[in-house]
Amino acid sequence: MGACQAFGSGSNPGECIIIYDIMSKNKQLIKDKVHYLVDFAVSEFNSDKPNPYVYDYVKLSFKLAKTINYRVPKEIHRKVCKKCNSIRNIENTKIRTERRKVNGIYRKYIKINCLSCGNIKKIAI
Ligand SMILES: [Zn+2]
Repeated sequence: MGACQAFGSGSNPGECIIIYDIMSKNKQLIKDKVHYLVDFAVSEFNSDKPNPYVYDYVKLSFKLAKTINYRVPKEIHRKVCKKCNSIRNIENTKIRTERRKVNGIYRKYIKINCLSCGNIKKIAI
């Protein structure tokens, strides 16, 4: 009942279960929000009229993911840079494939280099 007391509820176990239900629902909701915000930022960035707040949307989505300890999937990291919150396009990225020997086995990576901040993201394939 330690977690229950943390939320300030009484000793009623039924109440505790309800709180856990709300928590799990909120987690899924926040995950959807993270994905939606990134997709929205990318679509706004690619539209004809530039939106100056696209970086704030990306920043907000990473902040939301942190609140529920959600590991942001690699699909999102392919679209945006984690360090400078910029949306990747042809001008500000360099993409190379790399082969590395790990424990005697060759593994393949996609190396994404952000040219605006210099951050390197490696994704295993
Ligand atoms: Zn960057």
